[in-house]
Amino acid sequence: MEKWPIGVFASIDAGLGVDLDVAHELGVPTVQLHAPKKETRTPQHAEQFLARLEKLGIRITVVFGGFEGESYADIPATARTVGLVPPGTRAERTREMKEIADFAKLLGIDAVGLHLGFITHDTTDPIYSQVVDVTREVCDHCKANGQRFHLETGQESAEGLLQFLADVDRDNLFVNFDPANMILYGSGEPIGALRKVGRYVRSVHCKDGKWAEKPGHEWGAEVPLGEGDVGMENFLRTLDEIGYDGPLTIEREIPQEPQRQKEEIGRGIKLLEKLKAKIG
Ligand code: MG
Repeated sequence: MEKWPIGVFASIDAGLGVDLDVAHELGVPTVQLHAPKKETRTPQHAEQFLARLEKLGIRITVVFGGFEGESYADIPATARTVGLVPPGTRAERTREMKEIADFAKLLGIDAVGLHLGFITHDTTDPIYSQVVDVTREVCDHCKANGQRFHLETGQESAEGLLQFLADVDRDNLFVNFDPANMILYGSGEPIGALRKVGRYVRSVHCKDGKWAEKPGHEWGAEVPLGEGDVGMENFLRTLDEIGYDGPLTIEREIPQEPQRQKEEIGRGIKLLEKLKAKIG
């Protein structure tokens, strides 16, 4: 496989990420797919969908889970609503995550990703061990499917994440590294964090952001690739250093306006192509 194929975070029907036709028009060879709605996670849809992808010349690299009721409005809302951390929805969402993994298997995909939610750094908090347990449950389900489970990074420090990975202790648990999230959530300098967790990184989001005035208390701002504080050249050099040669998947959290997506993500692709030629 080519080193660092370009990718975008895309969706079929769930409203997050770039439309597949836009991805195709941009000439992107790979996507991470936001899991489609429950109604469309069927063998018949999987077959139709694979046929469509083949026609578009697009390969899926990771299927990402996501749930109704999640809100990224601000840091407290994220902590309250996202992933498998909130106790009230945990059992139902865990079930759904396993269904998403099974759908990914129908598509022949060996990696499933998720933003697990805001994991407390206090390992004595009962919530911590509950989240460890539920993560093991999802890992073991994925393992039986022959899949890896990739945790989206961002709201933990590198040390907190390493502690959590060690505590879950599963050999199919890896990291989807998102450098911008570390800035947006104020959880630490992303390049140093990438070096620390590098051995676990199996997929990445190419996303950019600017630090908030009070990092960790208020959101930083997500901005087009290359316009924020990540430093894309340094990011790619560090990926090279840790031996990562997988897809460079652009994630841009803007509304699904095809024209705007095409322009902004098109510029992001050009930037990555330029850096690939220089570094890769
Ligand atoms: Mg991300």
